[in-house]
Amino acid sequence: MGKVYIVGAGPGDPELITLKGLNILRKADVVIYDRLVSEDLVAMAVNAKELIYMGKHVGESERQKEINKLLIEKARQYEVVVRLKNGDPFVFGRGGEECEALRDAGIEYEVIPGISSALAAPLYAGIPLTHRNFSSSVTITVGHRKEGKELDLKRAFRSADTVVVLMGVSNLAEIVKQAMEAGLSTKTPVAIIERATTREQRVITGTLEDIVKRAEEEKVSPPAVIVFGNVVRMREKLRWI
Ligand code: SAH
Repeated sequence: MGKVYIVGAGPGDPELITLKGLNILRKADVVIYDRLVSEDLVAMAVNAKELIYMGKHVGESERQKEINKLLIEKARQYEVVVRLKNGDPFVFGRGGEECEALRDAGIEYEVIPGISSALAAPLYAGIPLTHRNFSSSVTITVGHRKEGKELDLKRAFRSADTVVVLMGVSNLAEIVKQAMEAGLSTKTPVAIIERATTREQRVITGTLEDIVKRAEEEKVSPPAVIVFGNVVRMREKLRWI
């Protein structure tokens, strides 16, 4: 019986994996990876007999069941199974669900952290998430609703100085509406960081008032991280790309 390593791949740039993650990736007998994981990183699994891409767009819950089943099956077949996931496995990555499935099946696992896009994307845009003058709290939240559930971001906008939204591009208008309902000024700066840390990175900025229009003009598409709050202004001074 093998062991499953749930490894954070980082946000996009293959060099942003941890040394611990890379070391185990090099020893992997099989790698099971997602849509947002860099192919260059997968190529570093020099020992792998199988590279399995699990990024197809079948129903999300169906796909997760399939992945859980596959992890168990491969752990019975190989010594070192690497499950390579975008960003950090425990930040909107369903890493927790995979651990549950492995635990229930009696399979040993280890989780290796990754650099989350929630942290790296703002950094690569020159936006510090905290700043002594503007922001002492950050909320990371998801920007679309789960099947059958209402999206409520008002609480997030009321309670944190900086709000980082993942998976929010297709729902931007609704997110902006809720930010206004929560009482944020229409002048609140907003940044959208698309394909952060890759060669295709783009940053689109605006305010609550015009960001929806700006995003349409620029044809913003996923994956992107959206940052709301006064820290976004720091980009003018700190952008380094
Ligand atoms: N576990 C991942 C998040 C997975 S959810 C993490 O910690 O980063 C997928 C969402 O992450 C995308 O919809 C997008 O909002 C964000 N994301 C992942 N990679 C990104 C990148 N390179 N640039 C911008 N956003 C990214």
